[in-house]
Amino acid sequence: MFKKILIANRGEIALRIQRACKEMGIKAVVVYSEADRDAKYVKLADEAVCIGPAASAQSYLHMPALISAAEVTDAEAIHPGYGFLSENADFAERVENSGFVFIGPTAASIRLMGDKVSAKQAMIRSGVPTVPGSEGALSEDQAEIKRIAKGIGYPVIIKAAGGGGGRGMRVVHTEAALIHAVQTTKAEAGSAFGNPAVYMEKFLQNPRHVEIQVIADTHRNAVHLGERDCSMQRRHQKVIEESPAPGISRRAIEKIGERCAAACKKIGYRGAGTFEFLFENGEFYFIEMNTRVQVEHPVTEFVTGIDIVRTQIEVAAGGKLPFTQKQVTLTGHAIECRINAEDPFNFMPSPGKITGWHAAGGPGVRVDSHAYQNYTVPTHYDSMIGKLIVYGDTREQALARMRTALSEMVVEGIKTNIPLHRELMVDASFIAGGTNIHYLEKWLEQHPR
Ligand code: ADP
Repeated sequence: MFKKILIANRGEIALRIQRACKEMGIKAVVVYSEADRDAKYVKLADEAVCIGPAASAQSYLHMPALISAAEVTDAEAIHPGYGFLSENADFAERVENSGFVFIGPTAASIRLMGDKVSAKQAMIRSGVPTVPGSEGALSEDQAEIKRIAKGIGYPVIIKAAGGGGGRGMRVVHTEAALIHAVQTTKAEAGSAFGNPAVYMEKFLQNPRHVEIQVIADTHRNAVHLGERDCSMQRRHQKVIEESPAPGISRRAIEKIGERCAAACKKIGYRGAGTFEFLFENGEFYFIEMNTRVQVEHPVTEFVTGIDIVRTQIEVAAGGKLPFTQKQVTLTGHAIECRINAEDPFNFMPSPGKITGWHAAGGPGVRVDSHAYQNYTVPTHYDSMIGKLIVYGDTREQALARMRTALSEMVVEGIKTNIPLHRELMVDASFIAGGTNIHYLEKWLEQHPR
């Protein structure tokens, strides 16, 4: 096992990884930008290294600063967390070429999954169901493009191979708008992602977002840890996640989960990962794979009892998965609310000093946050300041616990989206379960302030 790990991230996930290291008897090195100097997890770390100014490009995204921080502290491995460089194949390669272990998949796996066209082709080869669409990137042949769209049936969606974060996509409803949409998306993709390749898919009208967590070791073992329903989204950003997904049979989940685990073996995947699917009319359609730990991993930890971050570290050190597929069972129900420093209804960011902080508690309640009283939320980064996760024997109990926990949470001095979560937890359709990916945005339109 490693003696020392460098955490190349910030905020709640830096604290989460640090906790796993401490439990495992591994020293944790935290890096921080000048804007995060006073963060409590920096003070709690065994060692902390300032890697540059507030701007991410000069700190959390600055590869040489991160690698030299690992060198001066004699760390053996680097955990990238999520966001920042976690899905950057060049970083994974530089980490390994500098003699450190990258706690994640190989650079080749990240590259394969980072290009949506190659990812989709790999899924087709592995027997994972995908959205019907073009075979690979679209050519310049306009008649051919029209023929493909006709074959799929309108509406279709044009997507950039290099796209991410909900950008680089365009929905097309008629043949008249098709060619212009393809050309515009190509041009945008070229300048935004440095890759003009685009492909076409059937546009699913009212899907849910259901994803499968997987984890694999370097001994050809790969298992899935069930699903998460992340359909409550605004602008393609997840707001609430839960496991299991309401109303989907265990048989259906087992079937898709086994295919994901088999795909991991086929592509030689190692570490934790997530296969994201759109789910409509009882069918799963792969959209992308995230080759890192997810924000919403705690809901899976609650229902499976498996520590995902610990397992990531164990397999990165060459260990075998400490459980088999048969030993993984989902029990009870977990829900996560992302707590953002923003206006709950117009979503304007609200950084600044937290003058009052009281975290919820009690049985089945988990708060993953780096925030505390007198902590100042910097303006430079993502607005998420923590996550409130609850567990219950049933979904009903989990909902009741979430309502209680949300009523206890106090965050003063800045605005947060806690009031929005309180309203959503008493919404009849959310309580019924199984809302689609458009539900939250429609709800917001129907509840103007
Ligand atoms: P990104 O990497 O930018 O997040 P994804 O491929 O994961 O891109 O798609 C992001 C979101 O776009 C999905 O969650 C879904 O809301 C929408 N989307 C993508 N493909 C389709 C599709 N074929 N039909 C309907 N919606 C889609």
